[in-house]
Order: sequence, then C-alpha cells, then structure tokens
Amino acid sequence: MLDISLIRATSILGHSALCYDKYYFERSIRKTRIESDLQGGIEQNQLEFYYQIQVDHDRKPISAEALVRWNHPELGLLSPLEFIPIAEQSLLIVELGNHLLEMAFKQLLEWGQCDSTKHLTLSVNVTAKQYGMPDFISTITALLKKYPIDASKLTLELTESIQVADVGCVTQKMHYLKDNYQIKLSLDDFGTGYSSLVYLKTMPFDEIKIDQSFIVNIATSHKDAGLVKAIVALSKSYHFEVLAEGVETKAQFDYLREIGCHSFQGYLFSKPLPIDAFQALLNQ
Ligand code: C2E
Ligand code: MG
Ligand code: MG
Repeated sequence: MLDISLIRATSILGHSALCYDKYYFERSIRKTRIESDLQGGIEQNQLEFYYQIQVDHDRKPISAEALVRWNHPELGLLSPLEFIPIAEQSLLIVELGNHLLEMAFKQLLEWGQCDSTKHLTLSVNVTAKQYGMPDFISTITALLKKYPIDASKLTLELTESIQVADVGCVTQKMHYLKDNYQIKLSLDDFGTGYSSLVYLKTMPFDEIKIDQSFIVNIATSHKDAGLVKAIVALSKSYHFEVLAEGVETKAQFDYLREIGCHSFQGYLFSKPLPIDAFQALLNQ
C-alpha cells in the first residue's frame, strides 16, 4: 500500500529542491552578468558616488564618505555590497578601484575650490587587494599630479573584515602615503574581522570606525554599551580618532558623545545622497 504522507513529503522536498536550484541558477546568471558588464559600466561612467555626511559633536559637517552605486541600464541601481565582492574575485577590482579613486580626487578638487566645501575631508573605501598591487603608490602619485588636491583632506578606508594577505607590505605603503602626502588612514568596520588588534598595533591608522553592528544596541544593552566604551578607551590610548558608524537615534548619539567618540555617521544625520542632494544638505 502507498504511504500518502511519504508521497507528500517527497513532493514537498522535490519542490524545495527545485526552488533551491532555481534560486542558485538565477543568482549565478546575475553574477555572470555583473561580471561581464562591469568593465563597460566603468567605461560608460555608470558608476556614481553617493555621499554620506560625517559630523562632529555639534552635528557640524566635517567630512563625507563616498559610497559607490552602479546605475546599471537594465538591472537598475546596484549596491556595492553586490558588485564589489564580485569584482574582488578578479583583477577587475583594481581597475574599478582606480576609477573610483579618480572620481574621489575629482570631487575633492572641486570641493577645494569652493568656500562652503573646502574644509571637508573625503573618505574613500580601498580594498586590501588594491593596496597589494605593486603600482598602488604610483597610481596615487599620478592622481595627485593630475588633480592638485590638498591630500590631507583625503582619507583612505581599509575594511577590517577582509584579511590582508601581506600586512608588512600594506603597512609600508601606508607609511609612505602618510609621510609623503599626509593622506589620512582609517580602519573601517572595526571589530568585525579577525585581526583588529594586530592591525591597530602595526598599521599607522589615524582613525577607527566602530562598525554599526556594535552601535545598533548601545541604547538598550549594557553589554554593547560597555563594549563600545571599551573600544573608545582602547582607541584613545592608541591616539586614534574614533568615528561611530550607523548612528540612527538621538539616544545612540548622546551616549557616543558622552563616552568620547570624535565623529559620527549614520541615518540620524543623513543617508548617503547623490552629489546634488548632498550639496543641498550642506547649504541648509
Ligand atoms: P562601509 O564602508 O562600512 O559603509 C557604510 C555602509 O553603511 C554604507 O552602506 C551606508 O549606506 C550604510 N549606513 C550608513 N549609515 C547607516 C545607518 O545609520 N544605518 C544603517 N543600517 N546603515 C547605514 P553601502 O553604501 O551599501 O556600502 C556598503 C559597503 O560597500 C561599504 O561599507 C563598503 O565596504 C563597500 N563600498 C561602498 N562604496 C565602496 C567603494 O567605493 N569602494 C569599495 N572598495 N567599497 C565600497
Ligand atoms: Mg567605509
Ligand atoms: Mg563601515
């Protein structure tokens, strides 16, 4: 005799296996599409920075982070969380990274020529793979020649969540950029990686950015509040500036101010905005 419940279970399992296959099939098609379109996207200027303000204790704008978006003609506005990891799997990240650096230099040059923006520092995300390229320093040097910016207004963020293959080599390059050009260095997503303390000890960062996953519960969890307080104290003893990422509420902002964070970034102040909206925000 047929076991009905077994038939039902098998058909449910079969259905979910099909859904699972379909999901992975569609994802892999999308990934291949992104991979093959990215080069053209760079050449056709489809990449755009959104700018997110960073403020001081008095909510005064002091800097901004450039966060890339890709206006894909068919797939729509793509998040960096989708295409950066794909680019990172190949050398495309180097070309993409160089293109984004050039966009940042152009923007800083413009800001430097205008009274209302010349005080702003601009932070750009740079991947460990970019740092690892033998011509990373000469790329920056060439950009500095092409765009005569005040290099002390440029901050390079390195995310801590990604393992740096050759810490010694990256550290050397960082020293070069700081000593010769006064470029600032920031450790992004602090606390999410494996090597936080090693990076702090060896790399010449000016700033650490406490990851938003630590900030999200500080107003409701003693444990998280205590942890963030300890991170701020640790950073201060190393003479780093501390920026809190993902500040969304006044309660979080008040606590972070009280424990001595230097600067703040998050939806409480503004979401990342296209350049025109960002300029309008500054003029408010
Ligand atoms: P990130 O550098 O840590 O940037 C912060 C991310 O947090 C941004 O996401 C920002 O939109 C988001 N965020 C800011 N404030 C808040 C908040 O209050 N609440 C919440 N929930 N989120 C907030 P986005 O723009 O999607 O960027 C994600 C990541 O993609 C960045 O993380 C960075 O690692 C990478 N990325 C972005 N632009 C670039 C780039 O130009 N080059 C490289 N290599 N990576 C980039
Ligand atoms: Mg960042
Ligand atoms: Mg971050």
